[in-house]
Amino acid sequence: NEKIDIIKKHIKVYPDFPKRGVLFRDIFSVLLEPEIFQILKDVIVEIAKDIKRKNDYNCVVGLDARGFILGPLLALELNLPFVPIRKVGKLPGDTYQIKYQLEYGEAICEIQKDSIKPGSKVLIVDDLLATGGTLEAARQLVLLSGSSVVACFIIMELADLAGRNKVQAPVESILQF
Ligand code: 5GP
Repeated sequence: NEKIDIIKKHIKVYPDFPKRGVLFRDIFSVLLEPEIFQILKDVIVEIAKDIKRKNDYNCVVGLDARGFILGPLLALELNLPFVPIRKVGKLPGDTYQIKYQLEYGEAICEIQKDSIKPGSKVLIVDDLLATGGTLEAARQLVLLSGSSVVACFIIMELADLAGRNKVQAPVESILQF
């Protein structure tokens, strides 16, 4: 697909960030050119609608921080609520927390208790799937909120890491590396 090739070409790659040996792929570089950002938006809206036909959802959850670019675009286009999941200490009010494993060490992420309407069917959105730890933690936060994850939508999947096997929900990705 031509549009997906254009997006791929505009994702800037940084060797050794945030640490030696990591090849960091930055979706923010796509946003520098409005025409390219528009292509990204068109592609993700189309795929989100496809996913919705297969696995109907009524809430979009985005992950800190690049999921906050993609998620709200989809939520607005589909006329659905958008809910953020953030790294610990950023969200006001009562929250649910989950501790999860990173490549080195662990992290905590949170969701506001009054954000997702209980019983919602959720689509989780993020830019990149690596080990799957972040996405699976997010899925568990949605469960704690009394809702379920019907699908996850990721722009870039590092296929060798098999992160999708860790996530107990269907994962759809646009670019595989
Ligand atoms: P995981 O938990 O799947 O190992 O890591 C995924 C999380 O780390 C995502 O929230 C993602 O944004 C971030 N991440 C890991 N590697 C990269 C990368 O190369 N580029 C970007 N943009 N994010 C990354």
